[in-house]
Amino acid sequence: MSAPEEDLDGRSGGRRQSRARRVDAAVMWREGFSEEPHSGVKRRRDLRGTGAKVRVDKLPDTVGALREGLVVSVSRRTAEVEFLDEPDLGAVVDVAYSPRLELGKESLVAVGDRVDVHGLPGSGWLLTKVHERRTRLSRPGPDARDHLDIVVAANIEVLVIVVSADKPRFHPRFVDRFLVTAQLGGVRTVLFLNKCDLLPPEERPDLSTYERLGVQVVRGSASAGTGIEELRQVVSGKWSAFAGNSGVGKSTLIASLCPGQQIATGEVRSKDGRGRHTTTRAKVYPLPDGGRIVDTPGIRELALHRLTPSEVGLYFTEFEPLFGTCRFNDCMHTHEPGCAVRSAVAAGTIHPDRYASYVRILETLNR
Ligand code: GDP
Ligand code: ZN
Repeated sequence: MSAPEEDLDGRSGGRRQSRARRVDAAVMWREGFSEEPHSGVKRRRDLRGTGAKVRVDKLPDTVGALREGLVVSVSRRTAEVEFLDEPDLGAVVDVAYSPRLELGKESLVAVGDRVDVHGLPGSGWLLTKVHERRTRLSRPGPDARDHLDIVVAANIEVLVIVVSADKPRFHPRFVDRFLVTAQLGGVRTVLFLNKCDLLPPEERPDLSTYERLGVQVVRGSASAGTGIEELRQVVSGKWSAFAGNSGVGKSTLIASLCPGQQIATGEVRSKDGRGRHTTTRAKVYPLPDGGRIVDTPGIRELALHRLTPSEVGLYFTEFEPLFGTCRFNDCMHTHEPGCAVRSAVAAGTIHPDRYASYVRILETLNR
């Protein structure tokens, strides 16, 4: 007697569900996604385990034509996408992530991604495809076991590393780590030495080592307005990212390049100094002459964990002429006798700060 009842319940339940899905497809299809945009797949696996009635293997019907866009911001369940095509080129819409997006070794969606978007029945937009990333700036994901990198910014042409002549003091370690990350991700690097108004040229940090390595160095002052034109030429018409330690004047610099934009200077960080959510999320600012600046606050850890210790030396350009000249083929240039790199440091042809950065990166990989 109870069997037919159950049957009936089951059927009507099924009908209710499909109606619900039609009514608010966008909400329904977002169900499978949790906090982090790249963790969608894991979450879906969890849902399957619990037998939750969320059909994530079937896409909702899409309406309207395929649209092309650029991701300008990424949050937990949605991204903001700017349309790259008519009729409303430049318009920005919220999009949900299609459950069919396949998670690889990095974030599902990142700022700077070129994407395909489809309209959903009723209203709303669904991100259905992320085009292959040409470049990326990455950091390790929250869970090392996931082997996922968080892409802080994708398809960046230039990374501007902002350092300051004084207040705070110049840290070569920071620059060297970013140089390696940028090379790993295929991004060209430019150094901007800010706050040059504070010190006469002879007292400023000597960045000629970097210039000899082929890194463009621009010297100036965001508050005095010097060097800004030269930097504008570097970033004009391009997608660039800016990185710098807190207090170096990065926000002031971005504000002078992107007049009229709301840019928070002197950013507040959480008590433990790590900076969360809002402070670690990349923001995009349009340049008046085309191009975008991606502000990348709080990248502390970089995706150097992708390197094996023996690869690190490949990212130190000045080691290149010495390849194969150490006594041991597998020389790590740390303690081995007959090491050509250490001889070059002793002879002054490799800068001791650069060598110290190399050793530091090796140490972080061996931890
Ligand atoms: P951010 O943390 O790197 O974004 O740094 P901010 O842009 O918030 O600047 C930090 C402080 O440095 C502020 O008090 C700025 O006014 C100051 N500042 C920025 N650029 C310059 C500069 O070129 N010269 C001097 N003397 N101060 C600057
Ligand atoms: Zn060696």
